[in-house]
Amino acid sequence: MAELFYDDDADLSLIAGRKVAVIGYGSQGHAHSLNLRDSGVDVTVGLREGSPSRAKAEEQGLKVATVAEAVKGADVVVVLAPDQFQRHIYRNEIEPNLAEGAALVFGHGFNIRFGYIKPAAGHDVLMVAPKGPGHLVRREYEGGRGVPVIVAVEQDASGQAWDLAKSYAKAIGGLRAGGIRTTFTEETETDLFGEQAVLCGGASQLVQYGFEVLTEAGYQPEVAYFEVLHELKLIVDLMVEGGIAKQRWSVSDTAEYGDYVSGPRVISPEVKENMKAVLADIQNGAFAERFIADQDAGAPEFTELRAKGEQHPIEATGRELRKMFSWIKDSDSDYVEGSAA
Ligand code: NDP
Ligand code: MG
Ligand code: MG
Repeated sequence: MAELFYDDDADLSLIAGRKVAVIGYGSQGHAHSLNLRDSGVDVTVGLREGSPSRAKAEEQGLKVATVAEAVKGADVVVVLAPDQFQRHIYRNEIEPNLAEGAALVFGHGFNIRFGYIKPAAGHDVLMVAPKGPGHLVRREYEGGRGVPVIVAVEQDASGQAWDLAKSYAKAIGGLRAGGIRTTFTEETETDLFGEQAVLCGGASQLVQYGFEVLTEAGYQPEVAYFEVLHELKLIVDLMVEGGIAKQRWSVSDTAEYGDYVSGPRVISPEVKENMKAVLADIQNGAFAERFIADQDAGAPEFTELRAKGEQHPIEATGRELRKMFSWIKDSDSDYVEGSAA
């Protein structure tokens, strides 16, 4: 059974007594910075020169410095820039300025697991990874709740790394929901697998194929959009609340029977074999190598795939249809429709 911990298992004063530098003010960076600050922690946001994020952090009353300056004064450095840039930032700005005995915190294990960042032995290396997007991490905290976190210690130089990790997890609100003990390897490999095989990759492809099959058969795209994309949220909400069983309990008997007889026809055993191949490429580092090589070349493959995805007909249908949805409120994120292309 996994080890779980909650607010009562952590001592907030450990992190509250340290100077914390948060590098990056994006999805996770803004949420960690603001939640830490509101928990009484001394936070400085570290950003590159001319960073568009600077104004946003300052507007919230946070101290902002260059990455080097923020790191120099810090007991704890939180690395929340995009994974593909972290090793450059670490080598050029963090490592040369990192105080002796300062702790490093990550929000995902990618760079440590695949060896792109190799901290010296004297530093605690922790991970506190919220299992939700940054905007939710902030919104839940403000509402007096939290997004669950998974927590790991890769290097325990101080002998207190676990206590510090739990204290940090408490300060961002994660232990209001609960924390689960893991390792950098387990978090990295399962996170990548989940997003590739099921949550992002698998779900996106499933929805696109469903839309293509219906519209190619002559059905209206707007109706197809509802059936294969819009309703997905309602189904997923039921699964989160009560597992697949609750989803099956809630839908009609017709839908439930269709689930049993047609689900395995669509997602055949071959798909499971494909998933195993995806997992193998994560475990052996092939995915990480391909991602980083493309990023280092200026991300030509990534950019092309992103543009191609944005051009799928389901996006244009959805854009028009959502304008008419009175029940979808403006969210608090910075996302702009069509901005990914
Ligand atoms: P974002 O893409 O949202 O981070 C963007 C931020 O990083 C911006 O403030 C940007 O500043 C800054 N940044 C980019 N390049 C540099 C640089 N060279 N030097 C300094 N700052 C830079 O990242 P995420 O929040 O998505 O991810 C951060 C970490 O959290 C990753 O490890 C990710 O895997 C993990 N994570 C993310 C989740 C999510 O919800 N997105 C969920 C759980 C974990 P600028 O304005 O200058 O561009
Ligand atoms: Mg991830
Ligand atoms: Mg239906």
